[in-house]
Amino acid sequence: MNNEPSVPTDAPAQKKVYIRTFGCQMNEYDSDKMSDVMKAAEGYTPTDDPEEADLILFNTCSVREKAQEKVFSDLGRVKHLKKKGVLIGVGGCVASQEGAAIIERAPYVDVVFGPQTLHRLPQMLEARQRAGRPQVDISFPEIEKFDHLPPARVEGSSAFVSIMEGCSKYCSYCVVPYTRGEEFSRPFEEVLTEVAGLADQGVKEITLLGQNVNAYRGKMGETSEIADFAMLIEYVAEIPGVERIRYTTSHPNEFTQRLIDVYARVPQLVNHLHLPVQHGADRILSAMKRGYTTLEYKSTIRKLRAVRPDISLSTDFIVGFPGETAEDHARTMKLIEDVSFDASFSFIYSARPGTPAAALPDDTPQEVKLARLQELQAAIEENVRRISASRVGTVQRILVEGPSRKSSKDTPELMGRTECNRIVNFPGGPNAARLVGQMIDVTITSALPHSLRGEVVVA
Ligand code: SAM
Ligand code: SF4
Repeated sequence: MNNEPSVPTDAPAQKKVYIRTFGCQMNEYDSDKMSDVMKAAEGYTPTDDPEEADLILFNTCSVREKAQEKVFSDLGRVKHLKKKGVLIGVGGCVASQEGAAIIERAPYVDVVFGPQTLHRLPQMLEARQRAGRPQVDISFPEIEKFDHLPPARVEGSSAFVSIMEGCSKYCSYCVVPYTRGEEFSRPFEEVLTEVAGLADQGVKEITLLGQNVNAYRGKMGETSEIADFAMLIEYVAEIPGVERIRYTTSHPNEFTQRLIDVYARVPQLVNHLHLPVQHGADRILSAMKRGYTTLEYKSTIRKLRAVRPDISLSTDFIVGFPGETAEDHARTMKLIEDVSFDASFSFIYSARPGTPAAALPDDTPQEVKLARLQELQAAIEENVRRISASRVGTVQRILVEGPSRKSSKDTPELMGRTECNRIVNFPGGPNAARLVGQMIDVTITSALPHSLRGEVVVA
């Protein structure tokens, strides 16, 4: 017998939203918020299929040229759906940078909104329908955004919490300060309340998010006191149920001794740090306006390793910055050897309109830049292989996220992540379902190029 409640045939069909996300974890977070906002305001449910959507949103990235151009080719691909009455919106950093120019290039777009105005999406769509013309709002009312978002949704035992927005560092190559605005931190108590709410719902792992999370300066209550990032971590760790704390992305200049001390005191802070260095030559770091030397970067790492000897480190590199010589590149390769990075996001420099570096002469041929990038990536891969191999035979604590990609009904297999963010696949056994969301110990049995295999440690 079918016990499903019957759906009245005249019930209004639920509207669906398709969101395509480009770029960083901040954008992933913002896309979730767009989905939440549209659900709260209009009952939209998410779909993976643009063909069945009533609303299509592109959450764009303009950090590199390729990502920016992709938006327009993808927009062209959904244009035909306008005939069915679909609404199309463009948000994120390209929207912020291009504004009304998007409508000029793609007149079928209905709304253009920035990272700081995504909470106004329902009103903008309503205004679009009412006024009969596209709406553009790419202003920076940062304080308003956090106040108008619905509470965080929880799926599984991990959650992301945005603690600050924007960036005031103005590295010479980067568009972020122009597209996301200056640094703005959420008030201290507000972040703690959100984390406590998530922990109450069973979340064990919290990732604190921001363009430069460690630049956090949160207002405390009605006082004039300000909490820094180190203090925030200590308070988050006190919240019952929080077993792991991650954060991304951090800036070397904001990596204070107070933060290093927190690594010694707070066991929930994972043994993994993503600390973008960008380059290994001081000459280039200075032209990038990063504000530190390689010696200062390495000194921070040395102090951190003094309190956490096993910490794994990942980073970002930009290859082929204007004027980069073979010698400069060799310094980057030397830094990789010295620090022993465990992973990196590395890209060829992309001139961004309006940034100071875009005006610098750049005569290094593209194929030379590509060869440098490949050499750099091969060196990092070698580090990854070596570090993964050294984990074989050890016991690692993992948070089980769900079925692995190779899982089947006959041989259920699970995946989880170690503290240092390595994926571990392992046989789930008859109790597989019960392990999801749990922290368990596994013995690492083998190392593959991008994951580990393990076996559950039986107590
Ligand atoms: N705030 C972080 C920091 O200071 O490193 C990173 C945020 S940024 C949006 C992410 C990464 O994009 C940077 O670390 C950098 O490697 C890369 N990136 C930014 N602008 C770039 C450009 N013009 N060309 C190539 N890569 C770029
Ligand atoms: Fe961009 Fe530099 Fe700010 Fe990072 S610190 S977001 S690279 S300007």
